[in-house]
Amino acid sequence: MISEHLLCRLRELLAYGKGDNFYGWRCWRKLAAKVKRMDKHECQHCKAKGHYAPGEIVHHVRHLKDRPDLALSIWDPVTGERQLITLCKDCHAVEHPENLQYSQIRHEPLTEERWD
Ligand SMILES: [Zn+2]
Ligand SMILES: [Zn+2]
Repeated sequence: MISEHLLCRLRELLAYGKGDNFYGWRCWRKLAAKVKRMDKHECQHCKAKGHYAPGEIVHHVRHLKDRPDLALSIWDPVTGERQLITLCKDCHAVEHPENLQYSQIRHEPLTEERWD
């Protein structure tokens, strides 16, 4: 759970477009390490699809900017589902289409193969 004080600071950061600062907070880094341990450092989306990928990123299922009150909650208090999960870079990029410029999207080749 997040304290009122931290929630206040987080809302402020988000309001100024500096939400990324949150990922430097010690309480976040500690919690993220705990989540990775829980998930055995394995991407949970890849695992659900039956293959293994190293989990590198702890993702907020309900995005940080939408639900700062859940910023430090491993579990969603309403649904009882995981709110923080470990993902690989690729799966994480899929969860954040708003950050497309940072993800490695594979584009179809521009040139068509011709047979004439
Ligand atoms: Zn994955
Ligand atoms: Zn994320």
